[in-house]
Amino acid sequence: MRSTLKQKKRLVIKIGSSILTDAEGRLDPLVFQRLAAEAADLQAKGRKVILVSSGAIAAGMKRLGFATKPHLIPQKQAMAAAGQTALMHEYEKAFAVHGLNVAQILLTRDDLADRRRFLNARHAIAELLKWDVIPIINENDTVAFHEIRIGDNDNLSALVTNVAEADLLIILTDIDAVFDADPKLNKDAKRLSVIASIDKSLYKGASDTLRPGSTGGMRTKLEAAEKAADYGVTTVIANGRVAKAVERILDGEDLGTVILPKDGTDRLTAKKHWLAHTLRPVGTLLVDAGAKEALIAKGKSLLPSGVKSVEGDFSQGDPIDVKVEGEAAFARGLSSYSSKELGQIMGRKTGEIEKILGYKYFDEVIHRDDMVLLSDKPK
Ligand code: GLU
Repeated sequence: MRSTLKQKKRLVIKIGSSILTDAEGRLDPLVFQRLAAEAADLQAKGRKVILVSSGAIAAGMKRLGFATKPHLIPQKQAMAAAGQTALMHEYEKAFAVHGLNVAQILLTRDDLADRRRFLNARHAIAELLKWDVIPIINENDTVAFHEIRIGDNDNLSALVTNVAEADLLIILTDIDAVFDADPKLNKDAKRLSVIASIDKSLYKGASDTLRPGSTGGMRTKLEAAEKAADYGVTTVIANGRVAKAVERILDGEDLGTVILPKDGTDRLTAKKHWLAHTLRPVGTLLVDAGAKEALIAKGKSLLPSGVKSVEGDFSQGDPIDVKVEGEAAFARGLSSYSSKELGQIMGRKTGEIEKILGYKYFDEVIHRDDMVLLSDKPK
């Protein structure tokens, strides 16, 4: 089961405050240096790394001289604002040693629930990864309050696997793995190496965090793994204080706990399933026979030149069907452009998109990765 980890290419690595800070709660530059060296190594070996990092509130507490996390929400928000720059400063310094740039992305629940904003984040992350920049994501604690708060970075990291189209989530924490009982209370607690599916009883062995500046505990990590499993993503929960933990796990070493997605589905199958079965198309593109042939026989993306007309009123990112006039739909996918924009660029060459609209998101009207052929709908 662990042997499949070797093939994972796009990793979301969640780093908790508990491993970024020293015993006094200060950001520990040595930890940043070690984690940056390990991430740089993963990138050098052809993988892409996205970090979800906590530590803003912990850093803000130190900067502003608080020994414990304040209770008032405005104070926590202020603390996160003051600490976020300190956090990024450490990452910048640590990655610069390896010639790597970092980029900060702060998200709220609203950003991920809004299709347009979700896509903006996805597209920006995809570009950063192409340029080998390390995206470093945190919750935008300063503007996020109750209703729009995700609340903990474990759950945020699971959502990020979907935004970043990652195939593995690694949660680095200060304990070794998931156990069948709370190891802090029970010395006979046994480590679970692989979990095929998360059973509610596991939550009983999950302890909550006790460290100042930290949030969550094992409970939120299990919640995150459950969410990731729904996206077809495997999760690993491991001790981030262990040297080269990620690389060793990818190489098959029996460290931490691996939580598998349901029924062995992978991210692409899960996505295609979602496209084919869950989404209701809100428009249709009529294409010419040449475009149909390119999509079906050659596995190509749909370009504007093949589109003959647009039916329906839809926005960028909406699900739409593709068909030849007089036939049944043969494909479904997420549109890179709104119906209004498509009305202007259909039938034209990709090189003309920017001239016509004044901007261009993509060459493709529907990218291959965002499309499923209805003839071979995944079960
Ligand atoms: N966003 C919070 C911070 O950076 C952390 C939340 C968490 O640790 O789960 O301090």
